[in-house]
Amino acid sequence: MPESTRMSDGSTPVNGDNKVDIAIIGGGIAGLWTLARLRKAGYQAILLEAESLGCVQSGASQGIIHGGTKYALSGKLTHSAQSIQQMPQRWKACLDGVGEVDLTQAKKLSAHQYLWSNKSLAAKLTGFFASKVMSSRMQHLSADDYVPPFNQSGFNGELYQLDESVLDIQSVIETIRTQFSDVIFQACIENITDISDSDDSTVNKHYQIHSSDNTHIIAQSIILTAGAGNEKLLASLNFRQAKIPKMQRRPLLMPMLKANESVLPKMYAHCLGASAVPKMTITAHSLSQNQTVWYLGGEIAEQGVGRSIEEQTQKAKSALQSLMPWMDFSQCQWSALAIDRAEPKMPDGSRPVEPAIFAEQGVITAWPVKLAMAPIMADKVLHEIERLKINKNAQAVLIQNKNSLPMTQAKTSQLPWEKVDHWL
Ligand SMILES: Cc1cc2nc3c(=O)[nH]c(=O)nc-3n(C[C@H](O)[C@H](O)[C@H](O)COP(=O)(O)OP(=O)(O)OC[C@H]3O[C@@H](n4cnc5c(N)ncnc54)[C@H](O)[C@@H]3O)c2cc1C
Repeated sequence: MPESTRMSDGSTPVNGDNKVDIAIIGGGIAGLWTLARLRKAGYQAILLEAESLGCVQSGASQGIIHGGTKYALSGKLTHSAQSIQQMPQRWKACLDGVGEVDLTQAKKLSAHQYLWSNKSLAAKLTGFFASKVMSSRMQHLSADDYVPPFNQSGFNGELYQLDESVLDIQSVIETIRTQFSDVIFQACIENITDISDSDDSTVNKHYQIHSSDNTHIIAQSIILTAGAGNEKLLASLNFRQAKIPKMQRRPLLMPMLKANESVLPKMYAHCLGASAVPKMTITAHSLSQNQTVWYLGGEIAEQGVGRSIEEQTQKAKSALQSLMPWMDFSQCQWSALAIDRAEPKMPDGSRPVEPAIFAEQGVITAWPVKLAMAPIMADKVLHEIERLKINKNAQAVLIQNKNSLPMTQAKTSQLPWEKVDHWL
């Protein structure tokens, strides 16, 4: 057996009829994190991705590993949402090579996210910032410690350093992909059929997955981590309506601007406004030829839905200029990305605060809600898989397409700004 067909766990695959223990559908952070955890636990798990890994929400995220500041600001740091406080440490352990998923090859863009506000708003919020819930999360900086672009004479606000890092998500995805490339395939799943012998829900199920190129894979359990794609996959299952988990989409129109690094320094900060949603959340990303992209989230992206890219660009230009009057954006080129956040449905359409998983007859549907919370989501999935008592197959299976050829391995996606054809 040539070395190239050896599996990542060192075993040699057998030519079977595409039978695996667990099939994960969707290769964003939720699917990849779950795959890494399941393989480590000894399951023959595979992942099927329709296009490229991270091509929807995960690659479009700002990469902030939230520790709860956002929830504390909105007053939503409830008991259950407090688990998010452990996320920075859990991700750090992975980056340091001592965590549940090996992220030693992933890159950190910044050790901290910052938060700034104008002096009058900060004065009103002094008590809140000093409160127990906030003081453990942020540190007030004095002018000597200001980072670019706040270290310029025109900046006249208050700056806080948060204990939340920002990661290069493409490198996170690529790091997980390289470790498990032999079980991560490109396949768009059209539907899933229950082929179990028994209707008894206490007996282990068998599902057949059908891809658009007519490949069939049989698994004891299916994990749906397809983000917005979960909705269609759930509809293909023959579950009673009441048993189908419901999803909501919350759209965004994320402005982006690019320029030489001397014009747009690397910055990672929320601008605090009067409401709980930051006025703007800025992260910086490298593009070729010494160019930097600023990617803008927060209120500007939420309120931009329905605008054209030109209209959103105009709004973003004037918002940035009024929030950062000491900077010159005249040499920047602009674009915007329309994207939906796909989440479990909340009765009032509001933002869910923690990951949700739904288990029904061996099919587990999962939405992490935040990239940072993928570890909590995977804990819940693993707990459910253990409860299902899935048989662990000793031998690795060589997954083949309908022509009995090895299936195509999935690649890591480009980032949104790498896909823009035309900058304004
Ligand atoms: C603009 C934006 C910024 C964000 N910033 C942050 C942030 O800074 N920090 C943070 O913690 N969270 C952030 N989030 C939230 C975070 O990105 C998401 O919660 C997380 O990425 C969701 O991951 P996922 O794997 O569930 O979904 P996705 O990343 O959407 O992955 C789903 C995958 O499933 C695939 N798929 C769909 N249908 C099928 C099918 N039929 N067959 C096979 N594959 C299929 C898709 O191609 C896709 O690759 C942000 C979200 C957005 C939109």
